Amino acid sequence: MISDRDKSGIGMTSARTRERLIRRLKEEGIGNEAVLNRIREVPRHLFVDEALSSRAYEDTALPIGHGQTISQPYVVARMTEAAIASGRPGKVLEIGTGCGYQTAVLAGFSGTVYSVERIAPLLKRARDRLRQLGIHNVRFRHGDGWEGWRANAPYDVILVTAAPPETPKALLQQLADGGRLVIPVGPRTHQELLEITRRGDDYEERVLGHVIFVPLLPGVD
Ligand code: SAH
Repeated sequence: MISDRDKSGIGMTSARTRERLIRRLKEEGIGNEAVLNRIREVPRHLFVDEALSSRAYEDTALPIGHGQTISQPYVVARMTEAAIASGRPGKVLEIGTGCGYQTAVLAGFSGTVYSVERIAPLLKRARDRLRQLGIHNVRFRHGDGWEGWRANAPYDVILVTAAPPETPKALLQQLADGGRLVIPVGPRTHQELLEITRRGDDYEERVLGHVIFVPLLPGVD
């Protein structure tokens, strides 16, 4: 369960402000009620600096330091819809923890989320935040997401929230048969959001839309 520090319902983090975001996501085509409910419930303002909290329920990406961003709610909703389209996944690998917002949304629909981040201070803060929110089915790793997280493979779902120029081979290998990889792929300026489903040694690819993510960088910081 999510415990929420902002129970006051006052100001820009109020229920009304959140409801406006949910309405907007519906207008933009998010139809999965469970995903919408989860986004209504996860306090996005606690994932950004206090100075930005008044903008936390706008449908935009925001800076989180270290040159990184918290993803736009629409993109989080779309990726989560794709991730859970064929039921509740047992094991989910997330690459690019960042502030942990997508992690928190995903954790509501998963057995265990394994989340990898290359910037240590971001990872630490995300871990603390999720603990405070009472979300306990997430394992974190400071590492290079290009390599996935082999020890826990195979994964039912792999979700990548930073963009490589091409799909990392390790991630395809760590996908379970029938599993699904949701990943933005392309150059720095614009990418295609791909849904890749594994069928034995074959991989079916579908384009979900066009997105802009920060790049999937090599190595760790
Ligand atoms: N998932 C976040 C958005 C994260 S932004 C959200 O919910 O809003 C992308 C993140 O990917 C950044 O924190 C960045 O440091 C991380 N990243 C980039 N390259 C990486 C890599 N090779 N391995 C792990 N994380 C990486």
